Amino acid sequence: MVVVGGGTAGVAAAVGAADTGARALLVERSSALGGAATLRNVLGYCGLYTCDGRPRKAVGGVADRALERLAELGGVSRYGAVVGQWTVPLFDPEAVKRAMDDLVAQAGADVVLGAAVIGAQHDAGRVKTVEYVDFGGHRHTAMADAFVDASGDGALSALAGARVDIGAEGRMQTATMSIRFSGFSGDPRPRLEMIRDAVRHAAANGALPVTSSSGTGKAETDPPSSSTSASPRSDA
Ligand SMILES: Cc1cc2nc3c(=O)[nH]c(=O)nc-3n(C[C@H](O)[C@H](O)[C@H](O)COP(=O)(O)OP(=O)(O)OC[C@H]3O[C@@H](n4cnc5c(N)ncnc54)[C@H](O)[C@@H]3O)c2cc1C
Repeated sequence: MVVVGGGTAGVAAAVGAADTGARALLVERSSALGGAATLRNVLGYCGLYTCDGRPRKAVGGVADRALERLAELGGVSRYGAVVGQWTVPLFDPEAVKRAMDDLVAQAGADVVLGAAVIGAQHDAGRVKTVEYVDFGGHRHTAMADAFVDASGDGALSALAGARVDIGAEGRMQTATMSIRFSGFSGDPRPRLEMIRDAVRHAAANGALPVTSSSGTGKAETDPPSSSTSASPRSDA
């Protein structure tokens, strides 16, 4: 099996495949595994626990192994850190890089880093091969019985000629950026109202257009009038 993209989904897919005895190749274009968790400052795993006020573990498997390894490395908050209704393990991205490496190594999956998938051959609706270019600019072809598009962007799907839509009927989550602070004493946990007030204050003082200040994901601007559809792109 060839997995395109070594983010959270790709690592889980490659480890799961290797666990079954399949030969798995994980192709990641950046220099580390982990995807948004290590490359884009997404600092916590949402969705592992229920959000009904009585958090229970809802996702296990490879996620459990990742959390266990992160705990061994001292790279994750106590499992039950609560953010609003979410129970979110917060982690150190550098520890995630190491944990992901260890998971795929233990499972026996092959990994190529610095390798971008740039093409796909398909026949009768099935992907047959993918082409990737390595860090040195050399092209490689990988064939397999099964392919997983874990690029986060639908890159393999687009390269294989599938239609790729962006958003849910054109609507997308507000773009946000995590930030990390350190060096505080005591309990500096900010309250949601403090964040709202700060965003509103910045908007009122001429900050760049602010599309949401609720902090709850509730849209405060009109949704786009029509859906957005992207053509297949080679750099998706
Ligand atoms: C603004 C924002 C905030 C978010 N906040 C949170 C949060 O706080 N907590 C949370 O749990 N989730 C959050 N999410 C969601 C989370 O980031 C995604 O659910 C998660 O990253 C999806 O994992 P993935 O492995 O599918 O994709 P990604 O993490 O995006 O990984 C995809 C990987 O594929 C690689 N790749 C892409 N194209 C190619 C190619 N052509 N060849 C080779 N490799 C390729 C990329 O380099 C990347 O490593 C947020 C998302 C956004 C957009």
